[in-house]
Amino acid sequence: MTAYADFYRRSIDERDAFWAEQAALIDWKTQPTQICDYSKPPFANWYVGGTTNLCHNAVDRHLAKRGDQNALIFVSTETNEERVYSFRELHAEVQRMAASLLALGVKKGDRVLIYMPMIAEAAFAMLACARIGAIHSVVFGGFASGALASRIEDATPHVVVSADAGSRGGKVVPYKPLLDEAIRLSAHKPAAVLLVDRKLATMDLTAGRDHDWATLREQHLNTVVPCEWVDSTHISYTLYTSGTTGKPKGVQRDTGGYAVALAASMQHIFEAQPGETYFSTSDIGWVVGHSYIVYGPLIAGMATIMYEGLPTRPDAGIWWHLVEKYKVTRMFSAPTAVRVLKKQDPALLKKYDISSLKALYLAGEPLDETTAQWISDSLGVPIIDNYWQTETGWPILTIANGVQKAPSKFGSPGVPMYGFDVRLIDENTGEELKGANQKGVVTIEGPLPPGCLQTVWRDDARFVSTYWKSIPGKLVYNTFDWGIRDEDGYFFILGRTDDVINVAGHRLGTREIEESISSHPNVAEVAVVGVADQLKGQVAMAFVVAKDASALSEDAARLKLEGDIMKVVDGQLGAVARPARVFFVNLLPKTRSGKLLRRAIQAVCEGRDPGDLTTMDDPGALQQVRQLFTK
Ligand code: ATP
Ligand code: MG
Repeated sequence: MTAYADFYRRSIDERDAFWAEQAALIDWKTQPTQICDYSKPPFANWYVGGTTNLCHNAVDRHLAKRGDQNALIFVSTETNEERVYSFRELHAEVQRMAASLLALGVKKGDRVLIYMPMIAEAAFAMLACARIGAIHSVVFGGFASGALASRIEDATPHVVVSADAGSRGGKVVPYKPLLDEAIRLSAHKPAAVLLVDRKLATMDLTAGRDHDWATLREQHLNTVVPCEWVDSTHISYTLYTSGTTGKPKGVQRDTGGYAVALAASMQHIFEAQPGETYFSTSDIGWVVGHSYIVYGPLIAGMATIMYEGLPTRPDAGIWWHLVEKYKVTRMFSAPTAVRVLKKQDPALLKKYDISSLKALYLAGEPLDETTAQWISDSLGVPIIDNYWQTETGWPILTIANGVQKAPSKFGSPGVPMYGFDVRLIDENTGEELKGANQKGVVTIEGPLPPGCLQTVWRDDARFVSTYWKSIPGKLVYNTFDWGIRDEDGYFFILGRTDDVINVAGHRLGTREIEESISSHPNVAEVAVVGVADQLKGQVAMAFVVAKDASALSEDAARLKLEGDIMKVVDGQLGAVARPARVFFVNLLPKTRSGKLLRRAIQAVCEGRDPGDLTTMDDPGALQQVRQLFTK
C-alpha cells in the first residue's frame, strides 16, 4: 500500500487510535477520556471528557514561540487600510473584545451574532467568543435585512457585533440601517449591539442598546480575560449553508473535534509551515472563512490575510500583489473568482513576483478543466481542487500532499480524505456501487470525522431526517451530490442530485454538459438546467456568459456561436446531451457565496416560483433569464 492509502485505511479501520494521535496536534487543558462516542448514531461526540479552547489554540499557545510574528494581516483596498497584528497584538485585541462582550453580559453558551464586513474586528469578535465560550453565528455581511432577521430569530443572540458600513467596489454599503431593520423584523431582540465605527456612514444609535466598540475597547485596554476551558463537545459556532438548494440549514459545530480537524488538515492537506502566510480570498460569512481564514491558519501558527475588496480593484493584479508583498505560500479561492480573473488582462498575473506561492486550493463549485488549466498555466503552481460542505467544515475529497505527494487530475477534486468513509450509492436501490466509473450519490458512513456538524442547530430531527434518512433502509450521511470514481480511486463530482437531467430516459449530470460547453474558447461561464418538455420529459437549456460578447448583439453571430457550442457538446457527449437552446447573458444567478442557482433558473424557465432567494446575489441576473425565456 502507498503511504496515503495506509494512512487513510488506518483512519477508518483504527479510527480511535488514528484520531487519538491527531489530537496531539492541539493543546488540551484536560485530555479526552474517550475518542469517539458513537453510541447514539448518527450523533457523534468527539474527544469526550477533554477540555480545550479554540482561541487558546489559535492565539495564546503561539505567544511563547512566535509572539512577534505576523498573525493577522488586514488589507482593505476599499478604504486603503493595511494593518498587521502580531500574535501578541492579536492576543491583546481579542481580550479587549472579549472583555467588552463580558461587560455587555455575554455568558458561556450565549450566542453572539457577527454581522460584519471583512475587517480585523470581525476576527477579533469570533476569537473573543471562542475565548469566553460564547457561540458565534457569523452572518455574511452582504445579506440584507430579511436574511439577517431570520438568522437573528434562529440564533437568538444576546449581542450583535456589527459596523457602520462595509464597502464594495468603492461604494459605501451601510450596515447599521439593515441591522436596525432586521432587529425590528425579528421576534427576538438582542440585549445589546456592539458597533465598530469605521466613519464610513453615520449611524442612528438606540440608547441603552447600542454601544461603541472604540469606547469599550478603551475601557478594557488592559483587562485580562483568560480562556474559558470548555468541553470538547461545547458548541463553538453555528453557521448557515449557502442556500443553493433551498432554505439554508443551521450547521452546529463542536470545539475539540473542530480544532483537531483543522490542525490535522493544515498539516496533511495544506502542508502548513508556522511562520508562513496563508491567503484565503473567501469571506468570514462562509465556512471557508471560518476554517481557513480565521481558525485553521492561526492554529497552525501561520499568518492569515483578511482582504476587504474586489479581486479586480484597483486592477486584477491585486491578489498577486498581496502574494508578493506578504510572501504568501498557500492560497485558497473559488473557481467562480478565478473565472472572473480569466476575463481580465492576463499580463497582470506576470507583473508580480509570486515565487513564494506553493499551491492554490480551490473549492465551492466544480472546477472545470479549462479554468483549472488556465490558472495552472498562469501561476505555475499546483492547483488543488477540494470538495466539501459547510456541514463538514473541512475537505471530504482532495489530495493530502502533506502525507504523500500525489498528482491531481483535472476535473477531479481527488480522493477521500482520512476519516471520511465515502461510498457511492445507487439512489434507486440503495446499493453501494463498488466498481469503477459508476455514477452514484456521494455518501459518508457514520460517524462523520471530527470537525463535521454535530447537528442542525436546535433541530436534531431535521439533522437526522435531512442528512441521514434519505436513502431507504440505510443510515448514511447524504451529501446530495452526484459522483463517479475512476479506476485510480479519484472522484469526480457530477453536480447536485437535484441537478440531474432526464432527457428521453437518459440521466445526465448538468455538470457534464457544463464542462463540455466551457471547453469552447469563447465561453467564460455556463449554467445548464433541465426544463420540462412534453416530448422528451426534460431538455437541457444552457445559459452562457461569453468571454467576448461584442458581436453577440447580431443575430447571425449569436446563432453561429449557439450552433458551435451545440457542436462541441455533440462531439464530446453525443447529441442526447445537446442543449435545446443556448442563451447568452451578462451574468448568471448566483448565491452570495458564488454558487450557481440552477434551481432558480430552472424554476423561472418552467414558469414556477423560484422559492427562497434570500441568499441570491444580483437579482438582475435572474431577471435576464426571465426575459430571455418569456420572449
Ligand atoms: P445548501 O446546502 O443550503 O443548498 P450549498 O450546498 O451550496 O447550499 P455549501 O455548504 O456552501 O452550501 O456548499 C457545498 C456544496 O458545494 C457541495 O455539496 C457541492 O455541491 C459544492 N461543492 C463544493 N466544493 C466543490 C468542488 N470542489 N467540486 C464540486 N462541487 C463542490
Ligand atoms: Mg448543501
